[in-house]
Amino acid sequence: MRLEQVTGITTRTLSDYENGRVKELRVTAAALKTLAGALEVPVAFLTAEEIEEVPAEAVSFRAPSKLTAGQRDAALAAARIAIMINEWIEDRFRLPLADLPSLPGRDPEWAAQHVRDQWGLGVAPISNMVHLLEARGIRVFSLAEECLEVDAFSFYWKSTPYVILNTRKSGERGRFDAAHELGHLVLHAQHEIPHGKDAEQQAQRFASAFLMPEPAVIARRLHNATVDRVLAARSVWKVSAMALTYRLQELNLVTEWGYRTLATNLSRMGYRRGEPEGIARESSQLLSKVFAALRTEGVTPVQIADALHIRLNELSDEVFGLTPAIPVKALPGETVFQTTSPAHPPLQLVK
Ligand SMILES: [Zn+2]
Repeated sequence: MRLEQVTGITTRTLSDYENGRVKELRVTAAALKTLAGALEVPVAFLTAEEIEEVPAEAVSFRAPSKLTAGQRDAALAAARIAIMINEWIEDRFRLPLADLPSLPGRDPEWAAQHVRDQWGLGVAPISNMVHLLEARGIRVFSLAEECLEVDAFSFYWKSTPYVILNTRKSGERGRFDAAHELGHLVLHAQHEIPHGKDAEQQAQRFASAFLMPEPAVIARRLHNATVDRVLAARSVWKVSAMALTYRLQELNLVTEWGYRTLATNLSRMGYRRGEPEGIARESSQLLSKVFAALRTEGVTPVQIADALHIRLNELSDEVFGLTPAIPVKALPGETVFQTTSPAHPPLQLVK
């Protein structure tokens, strides 16, 4: 068998390992890479030290019924890699501790203002959602290309909250996603996120209220606003024109008919599919600082990926979508995946 020849691991050994009869497998990086390729899993899947599988119930997937098993597993793998990267960083840097309330079962509108009050935000617009989450101890990573259908999601891991963002969306939608995931973390406790329409609506309402607090919207006098007024006002809260329109309806500032007219006109102008003349995507302050500091110490992304036993592109997928200023490529003279032996962690096959 080809796999056997390349990896030097017999199928017998592999099956013994999977059945728990063999506790540890020692393989070279090259063999590991081949094995990962053959099994169609990221290398990190095979090398994760103490990271158990992230259970699907703990993750805030949007419309999970629409996801294929493959898409869901790819996202869960991305979650594991985010955890590994974070733990590696935490061993070297002191990062903010989680500072967000847990308010399961509370009214989303109330909860959004409660979080704002706890964080001293009052009703002011939020200048940068990613920076805000990071400052409050929420780890933010970006989603790999192959899981873009999954959209943003969030979860708790060992008391650390994570938000994984889709960095392909408009800046406005990225901010809304970040607020939506904050809603899940706050409203849906730490252990099991209820899936389904209700939970999604609660997170949407939370995001809407968090980004556009009622008193601030009312103060703008957007009663029966025209399209032009909506387009001018969206920049106050850095939200999409559609999100603001929806908010006006939530707060009864437009009639049902007025809402439909606004939505139809905006849709015709291209505001449903995207955000013409929108804002730039937000990036990570924390990851940019960490990777810049590591660079000055001579630690390169290649070395980090190596230390984590993941591929450079796995690292860059999760991190560099949020750190546009940091070079992702290997520097001249750097070889990607050159580790041969030094003490690989015990190989754990995760099914
Ligand atoms: Zn959701």
